[in-house]
Amino acid sequence: MALRIHRGALAALLLLLVVHAIDAARAPEPRLEMVTTAASGGAGHTAGRARAAASTGCASWRLGVETNNIRGWYSIPAECRGYVSDYMFGDQFRQDCAVAAREAAAYAEALELAGDGSEVWVFDIDDTVLTNLPYYADTGFGAEPYNATYFDEYVANATAPPLPEVLELYEKLLALGIKVVFITGRHDYQREPTVKNLRSAGYHTWEKLVLKPSSLTLGSSVVPYKSGERQKLVDAGYRIVGNMGDQWSDLVGAPEGDRTFKVPDPMYYVG
Ligand SMILES: [Mg+2]
Repeated sequence: MALRIHRGALAALLLLLVVHAIDAARAPEPRLEMVTTAASGGAGHTAGRARAAASTGCASWRLGVETNNIRGWYSIPAECRGYVSDYMFGDQFRQDCAVAAREAAAYAEALELAGDGSEVWVFDIDDTVLTNLPYYADTGFGAEPYNATYFDEYVANATAPPLPEVLELYEKLLALGIKVVFITGRHDYQREPTVKNLRSAGYHTWEKLVLKPSSLTLGSSVVPYKSGERQKLVDAGYRIVGNMGDQWSDLVGAPEGDRTFKVPDPMYYVG
């Protein structure tokens, strides 16, 4: 009985080997065989490749977000949580902010200013002049749904730190004689903690602080509100020489300002 099974198994194995040899002779060489072979190196390598693939994918995703190619998203991809955390707390985010602020300062310094007090620079507040990184670090860097109650508490505490590179730009603009206008998506009932936070963060002077009226019901976009407030500035005789924000919805919609500058923000999307 046992011998018959062994003979049967042997016959089956020989048959498989013959079939495999025939298939191997017929089949073309897999094009990615060398890549697959070279990259295989056990479970550690596999995990490393997975991390590298996620990192590459997340870097592409971030580029898509920053260029406004990716729109209407509600949370960062789950696999990018670690990537976004590393980016926000690492050198790259600060370097990216420094490039935006440096280019903005160079542009402002090269302007031929009338010096009549009519030239203004529009800043968004959240994640532009102030950083909400403490809030987002507590809520998964944009991987978890927006928590309006917790965020309102965060605003009320008035403890948001400045983005240092933007604070430096702010001081340069004031020294050039350019006035600063803040246009924020924060509500008008949040004026007091917002003023307190701006001052404690180092923003001591501004021409206007425009907060969103609580009575204002927005559709799916803040663009009509923000562009409408910029239009009011133009109508009042101001010239918007620059406009800086972390969301494209801070920057698009006429009148945009003579030049716009995007502060990096891969944590959330406001349309
Ligand atoms: Mg913002």
